[in-house]
Amino acid sequence: MDFRDLKAQYQKYKQEIDSAINEVVTSANYISGKQVSELEDELADFVGVKHCISCANGTEAMTLVMMAWDIKEGDAVFVPDFTFFSTGEVVSFKGATPIFVDVDRGTFNIDTGKLETAILKVLEEGKLTPKVIIPVDLFGLPADFPEIERIAKKYNLLILEDGAQGFGGNINGKRACSFGDAATTSFFPAKPLGCYGDGGAIFTDDDELARLLKSLRVHGKGEDKYDNVRIGVNSRLDTIQAAVLKVKLKAFINHELEDVNRVYQLYSARLKDIVETPFIPEGYYSSFAQYTIKLKNKEQRDGLQANLKENGIPSMVYYVKPMHKQGAFSDLYIYEDDFEVTNELCKTVLSLPMHPYLTDEEVKKVCNAIINYRNGI
Ligand SMILES: *Cc1c(COP(=O)(O)O)cnc(C)c1O
Repeated sequence: MDFRDLKAQYQKYKQEIDSAINEVVTSANYISGKQVSELEDELADFVGVKHCISCANGTEAMTLVMMAWDIKEGDAVFVPDFTFFSTGEVVSFKGATPIFVDVDRGTFNIDTGKLETAILKVLEEGKLTPKVIIPVDLFGLPADFPEIERIAKKYNLLILEDGAQGFGGNINGKRACSFGDAATTSFFPAKPLGCYGDGGAIFTDDDELARLLKSLRVHGKGEDKYDNVRIGVNSRLDTIQAAVLKVKLKAFINHELEDVNRVYQLYSARLKDIVETPFIPEGYYSSFAQYTIKLKNKEQRDGLQANLKENGIPSMVYYVKPMHKQGAFSDLYIYEDDFEVTNELCKTVLSLPMHPYLTDEEVKKVCNAIINYRNGI
């Protein structure tokens, strides 16, 4: 059993993917071929925003937005404590200070009450200027954007939605990657919509921001890439990756999103009385980048993971370490909080095999192993 079976997906779409790749290789338009702009239009259309700007990966996507917004030393950017390193890295990379905020016990997403407390604390201390909130759609579930948007408006902050794991989710029909002032996603192979290497994209309704991002991703180009009007980077999505993504986006929309939600239902029906299963609030739809359960304590979690391994079932701990404890941030002023929820989650969460091609039998096998383990303790 695979944790995320990318081979099954390739086998199903082999003909279309092979011919899409072959077309790029034959045409030799390896950089900025027509597939890139076609994909950008399809992605913007699916998400429901005006602009999609593709780039090299999800981390660069966020960095480009930080550059466009001129986020720099002295600025405070609010980031959940329970996320992948990237979300805080892009803030420090631009010389600004990430302020880590504890997450909600039910959704695993940024705790909006604690977010407002953190903003007030930074304002009161007066050393840093609050500029941006980066909510993460963790494990595929959109963050609490209605409340985050209210807070951002109140304190005049920008919102960058980190939708690296959230692509395909929605809140009452409004799609992930359409929230805030800009949103980003990643096409890393294991994300909900992945390519065959690195890739990323930025989404926004802001015409001026889109214009700036298109310049920044190609060496700060003006009229063309040999007319350079600002300092930028080289961060493009390869034509081959765009061609692969065009095929995969169709599969994603046609059935994959529904299939992961079918797997979610199967898992949760069997496991809901045995362990803590994912909580999806009313009106929210997850793209299930991960299906993550919670055990009572670290011993139970580690014990279950070892037991699953013995049964040939892969599982992962996302995340072992809170952001505020990462060595790279050890010099940082860490806003005082006990990070109670994040610390607890790092000890008790376990992500199970999750992808659209998981069969009922495989789900049953995973669930039975968990039920047997829980009966034994
Ligand atoms: C994967 C991920 C990223 C970074 O994406 P890359 O394409 O790997 O650079 C950023 N944020 C979160 C929450 C992620 O899971």
